Amino acid sequence: VHEGILRRQSARESAARTYARALPIVPVRARGLTIEGADGRRYLDCLSGAGTLALGHNHPVVLEAIRKVLDSGAPLHILDLATPVKDAFVTELFRTLPPGLARNARVQFCGPAGTDAVEAAFKLVRAATGRSGILAFSGAYHGTTAGAREASGGAGDVRVARLPCPQDYRCPFGVGGARGAELAARWTESVLDDPKSGVPQPAGMILEPVQGEGGVVPAPDEWLRRIRRITADRSIPLIADEVQTGVGRTGSFWAVEHSGITPDVMVLSKAIGGSLPLAVIVYRDELDVWQPGAHAGTFRGNQLAMAAGTATLAHVRENRLAERAARLGAHMLGQLRGLAADFPCVGDVRGRGLMIGVEVVDPAHEEPRYEVPPRDAGEAGHAPAVRDGDRAHGGDARTGGGGEPDSGPEPGGGRPGAGPEASRGE
Ligand code: PMP
Repeated sequence: VHEGILRRQSARESAARTYARALPIVPVRARGLTIEGADGRRYLDCLSGAGTLALGHNHPVVLEAIRKVLDSGAPLHILDLATPVKDAFVTELFRTLPPGLARNARVQFCGPAGTDAVEAAFKLVRAATGRSGILAFSGAYHGTTAGAREASGGAGDVRVARLPCPQDYRCPFGVGGARGAELAARWTESVLDDPKSGVPQPAGMILEPVQGEGGVVPAPDEWLRRIRRITADRSIPLIADEVQTGVGRTGSFWAVEHSGITPDVMVLSKAIGGSLPLAVIVYRDELDVWQPGAHAGTFRGNQLAMAAGTATLAHVRENRLAERAARLGAHMLGQLRGLAADFPCVGDVRGRGLMIGVEVVDPAHEEPRYEVPPRDAGEAGHAPAVRDGDRAHGGDARTGGGGEPDSGPEPGGGRPGAGPEASRGE
């Protein structure tokens, strides 16, 4: 059975499946951190549903919430009419939001995936400002649909500035730390203030408080506060993409809370649906210029996902699981950094809360180095290696590179969005 399923999947499914595709596992049961394969073996699940499983697989409170809706005879699909299930979800969601936003916010249910909510956020800020450009950051990942994809690489209407990283070898200015954050903030300012940059005043700016697919890169708090001031001073709506960082994972309920900033728009998905598809944007009331029908879509807010999401959000909040993630994450980071000293293949260990990345490098090379995995299990040969160093020291393919390390802000030579779009294996 096990071999047959794997063979059929490999023969019929598109090769564009996720990086997990090469795992020869056919999961049939799951609970908490563990999945059980059709081969009878048990596995520790490090995929975590790409960040959807804040409470692990099949948590009793989530199953109970789903069963309750099914047993009640409530409609499973009812467009965006008001229901008790939706009312409970929105009430719980607003309880968790950063207070500065919750006081004066609106929610828009979007198509079921994170990328739909990213598109909705772009559409909203464009409608609200009457402008079109979107500024995103190097290394970002916002999804696979047109606008979200552009924001992940920088193309078309979307221009890309550089995100500073606290790790020296990943700092786009080659200096890291507070100085790197300062240079990156000044560079962003100079891009915004230079009429030749192509984005003197974008409709919005989007960022991940901790980049996920970009390699678990936490944004420095001070840099986030600078970006908040820069955008507020210029009336540019700031969009926080918390699709992956939300619901306690980074050690606070939402990752923007570490820096204390209040974004104008928050993009939320993954764990807010308690493992079922759900995506929303939450935004300052003043941005709500949409007329009825301005943002439609059949699958906006699945009732079962809302129920599972309500149970998840409430469980995380009531049991202070964000604080627990902060404690466990600090412990885990310490332990992993201890191991890094003994293993030259560990180039870096970084993260926030329990959103942690271990950067595996080829110790024979000075720069971090990645191998792109083979396209499928059993397929011969590897895709060419991607040298991450190429994007670190002033050579980011997404920005067009060009900057000498430590050369400081460079509104001319290192024009954002000037370079070719880099491909990314998700
Ligand atoms: N934004 C971020 C930060 C993400 O990590 C992802 C998914 N990895 C998305 C958006 C897109 O979400 P989805 O895959 O559900 O479209």
